[in-house]
Amino acid sequence: MTAIDVIKGDISRIEVDAIVNAANEQLAGGGGVDGAIHRAGGPAIMEECRQIGGCPTGEAVMTTAGNLPAKKVIHTVGPIWRGGNQNEARLLASCYRQSMELAVKQNLYTIAFPNISTGVYGYPKEEAAGVAIKTVREFIKKKKGLEKVMFVCFDEENYRLYKKVIKEWKQTE
Ligand code: ADP
Repeated sequence: MTAIDVIKGDISRIEVDAIVNAANEQLAGGGGVDGAIHRAGGPAIMEECRQIGGCPTGEAVMTTAGNLPAKKVIHTVGPIWRGGNQNEARLLASCYRQSMELAVKQNLYTIAFPNISTGVYGYPKEEAAGVAIKTVREFIKKKKGLEKVMFVCFDEENYRLYKKVIKEWKQTE
Protein backbone atom coordinates (compact mmCIF):
# COMPACT_ATOMS: atom_id res chain seq x y z
CA MET A 1 0.00 0.00 0.00
CA THR A 2 1.26 3.44 -0.93
CA ALA A 3 0.61 6.20 1.59
CA ILE A 4 -0.63 9.57 0.35
CA ASP A 5 0.19 12.60 2.49
CA VAL A 6 -0.75 16.25 2.17
CA ILE A 7 1.38 18.81 3.95
CA LYS A 8 1.88 22.55 3.86
CA GLY A 9 5.42 23.72 3.37
CA ASP A 10 8.49 24.33 1.24
CA ILE A 11 9.31 21.32 -0.94
CA SER A 12 13.04 22.12 -0.98
CA ARG A 13 13.18 21.14 2.69
CA ILE A 14 11.50 17.75 2.36
CA GLU A 15 13.58 14.66 3.00
CA VAL A 16 12.32 12.09 0.51
CA ASP A 17 13.95 10.03 -2.22
CA ALA A 18 12.74 12.41 -4.93
CA ILE A 19 11.20 15.85 -4.95
CA VAL A 20 9.52 17.02 -8.13
CA ASN A 21 10.23 20.43 -9.61
CA ALA A 22 7.70 22.37 -11.70
CA ALA A 23 10.24 23.35 -14.34
CA ASN A 24 10.03 25.02 -17.75
CA GLU A 25 10.85 23.42 -21.13
CA GLN A 26 14.30 24.99 -21.18
CA LEU A 27 15.09 23.68 -17.67
CA ALA A 28 16.42 27.19 -17.21
CA GLY A 29 15.26 27.82 -13.67
CA GLY A 30 12.89 30.62 -12.78
CA GLY A 31 10.66 31.82 -10.00
CA GLY A 32 8.28 29.95 -7.74
CA VAL A 33 9.11 26.42 -6.73
CA ASP A 34 11.77 26.15 -9.45
CA GLY A 35 13.68 29.10 -7.99
CA ALA A 36 13.37 27.77 -4.46
CA ILE A 37 14.77 24.36 -5.45
CA HIS A 38 17.77 25.77 -7.33
CA ARG A 39 18.51 28.31 -4.60
CA ALA A 40 18.49 25.70 -1.86
CA GLY A 41 20.10 22.93 -3.90
CA GLY A 42 23.03 24.89 -5.31
CA PRO A 43 24.63 24.97 -8.79
CA ALA A 44 25.04 21.21 -9.31
CA ILE A 45 21.36 20.88 -10.24
CA MET A 46 21.55 23.57 -12.93
CA GLU A 47 24.72 22.07 -14.30
CA GLU A 48 22.94 18.78 -14.93
CA CYS A 49 19.89 20.58 -16.31
CA ARG A 50 22.15 22.28 -18.84
CA GLN A 51 23.61 18.96 -19.91
CA ILE A 52 20.15 17.48 -20.37
CA GLY A 53 19.21 20.55 -22.40
CA GLY A 54 15.44 20.66 -22.01
CA CYS A 55 12.23 18.74 -21.38
CA PRO A 56 8.95 18.83 -23.36
CA THR A 57 5.70 19.71 -21.58
CA GLY A 58 4.20 16.65 -19.88
CA GLU A 59 7.51 14.80 -19.58
CA ALA A 60 10.04 14.39 -16.76
CA VAL A 61 13.81 14.16 -16.33
CA MET A 62 15.96 13.52 -13.28
CA THR A 63 19.03 15.21 -11.79
CA THR A 64 21.05 15.19 -8.62
CA ALA A 65 19.54 17.02 -5.66
CA GLY A 66 22.76 18.90 -4.88
CA ASN A 67 22.63 20.17 -1.31
CA LEU A 68 18.96 19.36 -0.77
CA PRO A 69 17.87 16.78 1.81
CA ALA A 70 16.16 14.80 -0.99
CA LYS A 71 18.22 12.28 -2.99
CA LYS A 72 17.08 13.32 -6.46
CA VAL A 73 15.13 16.04 -8.23
CA ILE A 74 12.65 15.06 -10.93
CA HIS A 75 11.99 18.01 -13.22
CA THR A 76 8.66 17.96 -14.99
CA VAL A 77 7.11 20.62 -17.18
CA GLY A 78 3.47 21.40 -16.52
CA PRO A 79 1.19 22.87 -19.16
CA ILE A 80 0.49 26.59 -19.34
CA TRP A 81 -3.27 27.09 -18.81
CA ARG A 82 -4.82 28.30 -22.07
CA GLY A 83 -8.49 27.95 -21.22
CA GLY A 84 -8.73 24.18 -20.85
CA ASN A 85 -9.10 23.03 -24.47
CA GLN A 86 -5.41 22.70 -25.23
CA ASN A 87 -4.83 19.29 -23.68
CA GLU A 88 -3.99 20.85 -20.35
CA ALA A 89 -5.53 18.08 -18.23
CA ARG A 90 -3.89 15.31 -20.22
CA LEU A 91 -0.51 17.04 -20.04
CA LEU A 92 -0.80 17.73 -16.32
CA ALA A 93 -1.72 14.07 -15.64
CA SER A 94 1.25 13.04 -17.75
CA CYS A 95 3.59 15.11 -15.54
CA TYR A 96 2.48 13.24 -12.43
CA ARG A 97 2.52 9.85 -14.16
CA GLN A 98 5.92 10.25 -15.80
CA SER A 99 7.46 11.54 -12.57
CA MET A 100 6.22 8.48 -10.67
CA GLU A 101 7.32 6.15 -13.46
CA LEU A 102 10.80 7.64 -13.39
CA ALA A 103 10.97 7.26 -9.61
CA VAL A 104 9.93 3.61 -9.70
CA LYS A 105 12.39 2.88 -12.50
CA GLN A 106 15.22 4.38 -10.43
CA ASN A 107 14.27 2.51 -7.25
CA LEU A 108 13.14 5.63 -5.46
CA TYR A 109 10.37 4.88 -2.98
CA THR A 110 9.19 8.22 -1.64
CA ILE A 111 8.26 11.18 -3.82
CA ALA A 112 7.02 14.70 -3.08
CA PHE A 113 5.07 16.81 -5.58
CA PRO A 114 4.41 20.56 -5.63
CA ASN A 115 1.12 21.79 -7.11
CA ILE A 116 2.38 21.74 -10.69
CA SER A 117 1.15 24.52 -13.04
CA THR A 118 -0.90 26.32 -10.37
CA GLY A 119 1.50 29.27 -10.03
CA VAL A 120 2.53 31.43 -12.98
CA TYR A 121 1.25 28.79 -15.42
CA GLY A 122 -2.25 29.67 -14.23
CA TYR A 123 -3.94 26.26 -14.00
CA PRO A 124 -7.12 26.58 -11.86
CA LYS A 125 -6.19 25.12 -8.49
CA GLU A 126 -9.25 22.97 -7.84
CA GLU A 127 -9.10 21.33 -11.28
CA ALA A 128 -5.36 20.79 -10.92
CA ALA A 129 -5.81 19.14 -7.51
CA GLY A 130 -8.42 16.81 -8.99
CA VAL A 131 -6.11 15.79 -11.83
CA ALA A 132 -3.14 15.31 -9.49
CA ILE A 133 -4.95 13.15 -6.96
CA LYS A 134 -6.78 11.08 -9.57
CA THR A 135 -3.57 10.40 -11.48
CA VAL A 136 -1.70 9.36 -8.34
CA ARG A 137 -4.55 7.09 -7.21
CA GLU A 138 -4.72 5.37 -10.59
CA PHE A 139 -0.97 4.93 -10.72
CA ILE A 140 -0.56 3.40 -7.27
CA LYS A 141 -3.47 1.05 -7.90
CA LYS A 142 -1.72 -0.40 -10.93
CA LYS A 143 1.97 -0.14 -10.09
CA LYS A 144 3.81 -1.32 -7.03
CA GLY A 145 7.02 0.25 -5.83
CA LEU A 146 6.18 3.59 -4.25
CA GLU A 147 5.96 3.71 -0.45
CA LYS A 148 4.80 7.26 -0.12
CA VAL A 149 3.51 10.09 -2.30
CA MET A 150 3.45 13.53 -0.69
CA PHE A 151 1.64 16.61 -1.96
CA VAL A 152 3.52 19.62 -0.65
CA CYS A 153 1.26 22.66 -0.77
CA PHE A 154 2.85 26.05 -0.43
CA ASP A 155 -0.24 28.22 -0.31
CA GLU A 156 -3.19 27.86 2.03
CA GLU A 157 -5.71 27.60 -0.81
CA ASN A 158 -4.04 24.55 -2.35
CA TYR A 159 -3.59 22.97 1.07
CA ARG A 160 -7.33 23.30 1.81
CA LEU A 161 -8.27 21.99 -1.63
CA TYR A 162 -6.05 18.93 -1.36
CA LYS A 163 -7.35 18.12 2.12
CA LYS A 164 -10.90 18.37 0.80
CA VAL A 165 -10.35 16.24 -2.31
CA ILE A 166 -8.46 13.56 -0.35
CA LYS A 167 -11.19 13.44 2.30
CA GLU A 168 -13.91 13.05 -0.32
CA TRP A 169 -11.98 10.29 -1.99
CA LYS A 170 -11.39 8.42 1.29
CA GLN A 171 -15.09 8.58 2.12
CA THR A 172 -16.06 7.02 -1.19
CA GLU A 173 -13.49 4.23 -1.11
P1 ADP B 1 4.20 26.72 -12.51
O1 ADP B 1 5.00 27.49 -13.52
O2 ADP B 1 4.19 25.24 -12.81
O3 ADP B 1 2.85 27.29 -12.29
P2 ADP B 1 5.11 27.85 -9.96
O4 ADP B 1 6.40 27.60 -9.26
O5 ADP B 1 4.83 29.25 -10.40
O6 ADP B 1 5.07 26.81 -11.18
O7 ADP B 1 3.92 27.36 -9.05
C1 ADP B 1 3.59 26.03 -8.81
C2 ADP B 1 3.16 25.86 -7.38
O8 ADP B 1 4.31 25.81 -6.55
C3 ADP B 1 2.28 27.00 -6.84
O9 ADP B 1 1.12 26.43 -6.24
C4 ADP B 1 3.17 27.68 -5.80
O10 ADP B 1 2.39 28.14 -4.70
C5 ADP B 1 4.05 26.52 -5.36
N1 ADP B 1 5.34 26.87 -4.73
C6 ADP B 1 6.07 28.00 -4.81
N2 ADP B 1 7.20 27.88 -4.06
C7 ADP B 1 7.18 26.64 -3.51
C8 ADP B 1 8.02 25.90 -2.62
N3 ADP B 1 9.17 26.41 -2.15
N4 ADP B 1 7.66 24.64 -2.27
C9 ADP B 1 6.52 24.08 -2.73
N5 ADP B 1 5.68 24.72 -3.56
C10 ADP B 1 6.00 25.98 -3.95
